[in-house]
Amino acid sequence: MSIKRPFYEDGLKFQCQGSGNCCTSHGEFGFVFLTLEDRRRFAKHLNISTAAFTRQYCDIKDGVWHLKEDPKNPDCMFLKNKRCSTYEARPTQCRTWPFWPEVLNPKAWKSEVASFCPGIGKGKLWSKEEIETIAAEDAENASRFGT
Ligand code: SF4
Repeated sequence: MSIKRPFYEDGLKFQCQGSGNCCTSHGEFGFVFLTLEDRRRFAKHLNISTAAFTRQYCDIKDGVWHLKEDPKNPDCMFLKNKRCSTYEARPTQCRTWPFWPEVLNPKAWKSEVASFCPGIGKGKLWSKEEIETIAAEDAENASRFGT
C-alpha cells in the first residue's frame, strides 16, 4: 500500500511581497473572521475596549464575528496604501495565510492562491513540517470562531 505524499512534501516557497492582494475580498475568502482573542489583540492595539472594538469594527454572521465590510470596497478596512495598518495585531487568519488547510491541495493552490498572491514561489522555502504546523494553527483558530 502506498502512502500519498502531499504536494508540498518538498516544501513550498512563499514570501510576502506586500501586494495587499490577500487583504481584498476574494469571494469565499472575503471575510476576515475573528476569535475573541483576535478582537482582544486588535482592541489592545487600538487602545480601546474589546466591546468598543467589536461595536465599531465587527459584524456577526451565523454566530461568527468578522471585520465589517464595505459593499462598495472589497478591501479590508485596515488596508492603507496597500499595507496592513495593524500588521502587528493582525488576526490569526491573516497570519496563517497562505497555509490554510482548505487551499493546501494542488488545484486550490494553483487556482485560488498562486493566481492572485505574488508571494507564491518566492523567497523562503517552507518545509512540510512548518506548513503543517501553520495549517494546524489555522484549523485550531477556525474551530474557535464565534467565541
Ligand atoms: S487585518 Fe491586515 S492583514 Fe488582515 S486582511 Fe486586513 S489589512 Fe490584510
